[in-house]
Amino acid sequence: MDSYDVIIVGSGPAGMAAAFTLKKSNPNLSILILDREKFSTGGMRNDCKMNFTYPIGFPTEYWSEETANHYLDQVIDFLEPTIMPKSNIAVYQKRAERLGCTLLEIKQTHLGTDGGLALIKELLARLEALGVSLALGEAMERVDQENRFIITEEREIGYKRLLVAPGRKGFNFLQELMHSLSIPFIDNIVDIGIRVETRIEHYPIVSDYYDPKFYFPDKVRTFCTNSGNAHVVRERYATNRGDQWFSVNGHAFAPDSRHDNGLVNFAMLKTVRFTAPLASGQAFAENLGLQAALMGGGKPLMQRVGDFRLGTRSKEASFSDDLFDFEPTLRSCCPGDISLAIPAKILRAIWKAMKNLDTIVPGVLHPSTIMYYPEIKLYANKPAYLDEHFRVAEDIWFAGDGAGTSRGITGAWASGIRAGEGMAESLL
Ligand SMILES: Cc1cc2nc3c(=O)[nH]c(=O)nc-3n(C[C@H](O)[C@H](O)[C@H](O)COP(=O)(O)OP(=O)(O)OC[C@H]3O[C@@H](n4cnc5c(N)ncnc54)[C@H](O)[C@@H]3O)c2cc1C
Repeated sequence: MDSYDVIIVGSGPAGMAAAFTLKKSNPNLSILILDREKFSTGGMRNDCKMNFTYPIGFPTEYWSEETANHYLDQVIDFLEPTIMPKSNIAVYQKRAERLGCTLLEIKQTHLGTDGGLALIKELLARLEALGVSLALGEAMERVDQENRFIITEEREIGYKRLLVAPGRKGFNFLQELMHSLSIPFIDNIVDIGIRVETRIEHYPIVSDYYDPKFYFPDKVRTFCTNSGNAHVVRERYATNRGDQWFSVNGHAFAPDSRHDNGLVNFAMLKTVRFTAPLASGQAFAENLGLQAALMGGGKPLMQRVGDFRLGTRSKEASFSDDLFDFEPTLRSCCPGDISLAIPAKILRAIWKAMKNLDTIVPGVLHPSTIMYYPEIKLYANKPAYLDEHFRVAEDIWFAGDGAGTSRGITGAWASGIRAGEGMAESLL
């Protein structure tokens, strides 16, 4: 059987940061990084916009500002980002404050989907140069904790220490693993919302601030704004029973005026925290996803603001009419009525936030603006961690979005350093 000092499952930012940290602590460690895909499937591969200001991307239950800043400094030193300039922030902040809303000022950089792929390739090459082995296109299935080996689709591989960092796509996989290892966890918080797409001229703030972070009452916020050569995409998810549903998302390519489509997209998300008797936010969110898929004939839904305001469903005509003057970038969506699919309390909060946003940045509620549904973020797994380095069991650590320790690339990278430090210490 092949055997390594450390196996890292997931080649996203959490997994890569852990590998760099471990190699720095001891260059002789044998490390294997395993990923079910050829390149990591998270945000580094999709848009790759990075935020370097607490609390963006850092769940506050695991990160104090001081701890996050300590690790963020290391992330910045390692990734050496070029921070994007911002302008006119005070004007928008003042308007927001008048309405009881907040605009956070965040240090950001944006590499784009193409730039992100280049970064992944560069980082993987650096890891290989350090002697890290890569098994890309191979998925972990189970672990034999007693005998310290994992089982993939192809083989058994021994480890002394194991880090599982499978990202949001690995949410179900991680839950199955936690059940098999008897690791207690909760997953009672989810973010549910819509993705908004409009012309940049209707949301011109993006020329001043690439990914503006607005916070509204009722736990609603803007999230993941993309502009320039920006596209709405859909991600396929499957429940444990194999039923499929889609969440929408967005990304942009690196700026290139020849390809810019003049559009912007961003999510409006509401955080929902469940209490007894509902135990699983994941199960609730999946059911919403399935409900939307049922209404959309297997596809996500989209509706123009003009139709929504009139209380009528959107139809194919809503996407070819003169007032509705731009094509949706995600065509594989069903024109419909999102208000039939979104729970009333969530929709009320989001629509109120949209009206506030339209007062802060007038124009975003233009009739042509498209609202796609559902956009659901599954990063609510909260395992019972045994220490501050995210150890969950004898010789096993978790990190990253799938394990609830981050909500973005930089938080995931910081989580990977933190887990890597714990593993390195345990190997001394
Ligand atoms: C479409 C999309 C766009 C995003 N855009 C941004 C953005 O612009 N900025 C930002 O900060 N964040 C963004 N995010 C969030 C970002 O992806 C995460 O915060 C970050 O990537 C989490 O890092 P991670 O290492 O935990 O997981 P990931 O980056 O998701 O990496 C986990 C890896 O584990 C692999 N994996 C899963 N299960 C297994 C298994 N059983 N065996 C082997 N491998 C497995 C997956 O293939 C994946 O490559 C985006 C997420 C998505 C899905």
